[in-house]
Amino acid sequence: MSGIGPTKTLAIDVDSVLADTMIVWTDEYNIRTGARISKSEISSWDVSLILPISPSNISCLFNDIWKHRWLEIPPTGDRLGEVTRSIHRKGYRISIMTKRDRETVPFVAKWLDRYDIFSDDLLFVYDDIPKSDYPYDIIVDDAPSNLIGLVPPKVGILFDQPWNKYFRWPIRVGSLMEVDLLL
Ligand SMILES: [Mg+2]
Repeated sequence: MSGIGPTKTLAIDVDSVLADTMIVWTDEYNIRTGARISKSEISSWDVSLILPISPSNISCLFNDIWKHRWLEIPPTGDRLGEVTRSIHRKGYRISIMTKRDRETVPFVAKWLDRYDIFSDDLLFVYDDIPKSDYPYDIIVDDAPSNLIGLVPPKVGILFDQPWNKYFRWPIRVGSLMEVDLLL
């Protein structure tokens, strides 16, 4: 890295971009309700449209799996540590940005360490300030709502997941490795 440092910031989301959280979420949902749902069936961003569960119970379950089953949450791809370092070596600052409840923060931090994921900063968002308001050049996110408010020159990369299949967006990737290849 040169003395002037990297010139661009790449913001990377955690849930469903680095961590394949919904695999454990659906498993926990099945255990609790006797259902047999898989991640691939979550075809809407609004899970309460797919399953008989209220938005507050959706987040409760989400917090519970991060607190109690975080070791079981798989990464979305192999060698995320190497991929994040490769992106950093290209001159990008890596900002990991995740909106969540405070109670899950230590577990997310441990999960990122466990997979040796590189970052220049780690931003936990607790309030409702849209991600698009934060400073970065490029964002990788699976949530259409985090991309539609982007104002150029900011660029949004959509991370492919069953719930965003029908969202039309010019840049879509299926892995972080694909992001590395685009940069
Ligand atoms: Mg996400």
